[in-house]
Amino acid sequence: MSRFAMIIDLERCYGCDACKAACQEEHMTPPAARFAEVLRAARPGTGWEDETAEGRVFLPLLCMQCEAPACMAACGDGAIRVAEGGIVVIDEDRCTGCGQCVAACPYHAVKAASPHTVSGDGGFLKDRERDLLEAWHRRFQKGIPSKCDFCSHRISEGKVPRCVAVCPVGAHVFGDLDDASSDVESVVDKGEAGPIFSERGTRPRVFYRPPKGTSLSDIERIFKRRA
Ligand code: SF4
Repeated sequence: MSRFAMIIDLERCYGCDACKAACQEEHMTPPAARFAEVLRAARPGTGWEDETAEGRVFLPLLCMQCEAPACMAACGDGAIRVAEGGIVVIDEDRCTGCGQCVAACPYHAVKAASPHTVSGDGGFLKDRERDLLEAWHRRFQKGIPSKCDFCSHRISEGKVPRCVAVCPVGAHVFGDLDDASSDVESVVDKGEAGPIFSERGTRPRVFYRPPKGTSLSDIERIFKRRA
């Protein structure tokens, strides 16, 4: 079985938000339930007075597709599982909307149910968009949370996740940890990128390459300030 993973190169990311915007478009996520975010912070050792991209760290966040997911452990309904390719999915038929997974995820990656509306009668929507919208309404009515799934609908078509496809500087790299020829496998194997908060034991499969002069601890501090 594949173990899909992602490297996010924080030296390359310059905070254009293309990944965030494309993710929202791909999934038609309500604003309060965005699957992807990009945090901004002053680069350690510099201050906000340095307004150049070099003076900043940009931290894209999404579901870490953990191998031992805290969300799954917290779910009393057996509604969360690790599926094909190691992707963590929520089974909406089993979910009772208790919200335990939302509270349990150390990365704040599970989003609580949120309303989604479109103006007008929605007559301009394509079939896929209409289906997505109906799914959001259904989730909101039942209180079902949602999260990034590495765009599994795209992976099944042989494509990479949308955030990977749109990044103009190739800061997101997607691959299979079980494929020795994958870029992801070699970067992780060489220790050039690592997970944040690995001590929490969920074994994330999103790996960050810290910008020059910074460490994963710096990246964790940036995350904590926002949390
Ligand atoms: Fe679950 Fe959070 Fe890990 Fe994603 S990041 S698999 S939502 S614990």
